[in-house]
Amino acid sequence: MSDPTPKTLVTNQKLPPIAYQVQLRSTFCQRCQATHEYSETFELRVYRNFKNLTPIRTMADVNYNMPINVVKSNPTITPFCHECVKPGMFNHLPRPPALDVRVASDLWQTDLVRNTPKPPEKKKRATFTLDDL
Ligand SMILES: [Zn+2]
Repeated sequence: MSDPTPKTLVTNQKLPPIAYQVQLRSTFCQRCQATHEYSETFELRVYRNFKNLTPIRTMADVNYNMPINVVKSNPTITPFCHECVKPGMFNHLPRPPALDVRVASDLWQTDLVRNTPKPPEKKKRATFTLDDL
């Protein structure tokens, strides 16, 4: 006899985790040439071809004895970083252009005119003369 209970969809939240995944990320600073590394830790859940990573932030979130996978990501690039930033380090560069309020107002008016919907054209009523009959 088959089970009459309908099958329920298993969501990621109900799937048990299978491992911790530590994602090791790095950022290369173009200014000081330093590479900064940091990591984020997740619980890994797998269902068929789908993977779900749930961030874990504190030791209170570490509840299971599971394997720990360390996955290294490709480094990202930053023009300057927290270690080499200094006040005034871009004094040699020009200031951003000032906003011309008059120009902005004109642009706004232009956009307003352009984006205002046109009223629908009224169809001309066909007129007939006695000669048309
Ligand atoms: Zn730097």
